[in-house]
Amino acid sequence: MKTINAFDPATLGTLPERRQALIRRREALLGPAYRLFYQDPVELVRGQGVWVWDAEGKRYLDAYNNVVSLGHCHPHVVQALQRQAVTLNTHTRYLNEALLDYAERLLATHHPSLDRLMFTCTGSEANDLALRLAQFHTGGTGVIVTDWAYHGVTQSTAACSPSLGAPGAGPLRVYTVPAPRSEGQGGAADDVGAAFAAGIEQAILRMQAEGVRPAALLVDTLFTSDGVYGAPAGFLQAAVARARSVGMLVIADEVQPGFGRTGSHMWGYQRHGIAPDLVTMGKPMGNGHPLAGLCARQDLLDAFGRETRYFNTFGGNTVSAAVGMAVLDVLEGEQLLANAQTQGAYFSQCLQSLARRHAWIGEVRQFGLFLGVALVHDGDPARPAAAATTRVVNGMKDRGVLISACSRSANVLKIRPPLVLERAQVDIFIEALDDCLTALKAR
Ligand code: PMP
Repeated sequence: MKTINAFDPATLGTLPERRQALIRRREALLGPAYRLFYQDPVELVRGQGVWVWDAEGKRYLDAYNNVVSLGHCHPHVVQALQRQAVTLNTHTRYLNEALLDYAERLLATHHPSLDRLMFTCTGSEANDLALRLAQFHTGGTGVIVTDWAYHGVTQSTAACSPSLGAPGAGPLRVYTVPAPRSEGQGGAADDVGAAFAAGIEQAILRMQAEGVRPAALLVDTLFTSDGVYGAPAGFLQAAVARARSVGMLVIADEVQPGFGRTGSHMWGYQRHGIAPDLVTMGKPMGNGHPLAGLCARQDLLDAFGRETRYFNTFGGNTVSAAVGMAVLDVLEGEQLLANAQTQGAYFSQCLQSLARRHAWIGEVRQFGLFLGVALVHDGDPARPAAAATTRVVNGMKDRGVLISACSRSANVLKIRPPLVLERAQVDIFIEALDDCLTALKAR
């Protein structure tokens, strides 16, 4: 996704010397495709739970990192990784019971129709494989995505990621539809669902007019790049039905909403009461270790597997299996879905009360511990406040809280703290945000 609120090179000369030197060296070695967060970028050196520390010893509340969903350096996961790393690390061409135990346990959290698993190292690879499977089964190349989606960095997934900017040509024909803008949490599922499905219908008509055969509807089930849209639960059903009516496979991208982030369910698609054909997973799957994958119906993977072989050197390696299992232990053992629900509800309440005092807050979207806060001018949802959003993201960082922003209008604060977040840490967040919004007024 396009990095919003990125470091602006024009401010380089104003930064402390060490950071200037690191930025110059990074640019010289890695080139300009790598973007930094914040006008004064952070050099992190240590993390524990919800906290991270920079090179000068300053502590930050990490309210953005949904990779380390269990908290930074969770001891149970670190120990599992260490134990396996000193024993054996190899790949899926040898028998390994622990990998099968893990696959069984992970599949049990999904819809019963999804009973096969494939391992990758990144969410991009998982989506790429899902797209390959969709092409294989439908013989089509037409894919529908939302108009500010992000699905990855491979050629196919970048082509399916309008938020990246210039995706470049790929083998797929990609059609974008407006995200389901469920403004207000209380709207009827029928209204939001019908509007979203109408966009799908238009895309199908465009596809047909251009002689393109439909292959897949690929959706992030919380529309996390488009602006965090998940309400009301159930609205995806109409779109899924329309896509299926022309033979499309439905791919649920759970890289961001998955592994309990929404609190009410393990997977975002479960909130909508749908059974996708393919589900992709990543980010929190290894709590920082590169572990990702895809689950699917047996018939889909069997037909594909008879025609081609699949070997991913690092996907499903012995250490990854141990890590993945440890992540599930912690999610269950520490009851983190329940915590996401409790703390998320409290977070939302606090944000709503801030909204009564600051007209900048146009809408609070909250799904467990995934929160989007739309900032607007004078309470008017039609006037997104992008510059103010950038100031708030940077101001929060100065006050020791890390977040970022999303949406095409770059006006939605994107908040995804580790699921181990405590009430007192929500209070720290709210105090910092209150202060930032007050500072906006004073300008
Ligand atoms: N899908 C979504 C919704 C994502 O947010 C991301 C990562 N930001 C990806 C796919 C790609 O995952 P990865 O970076 O592990 O390739």
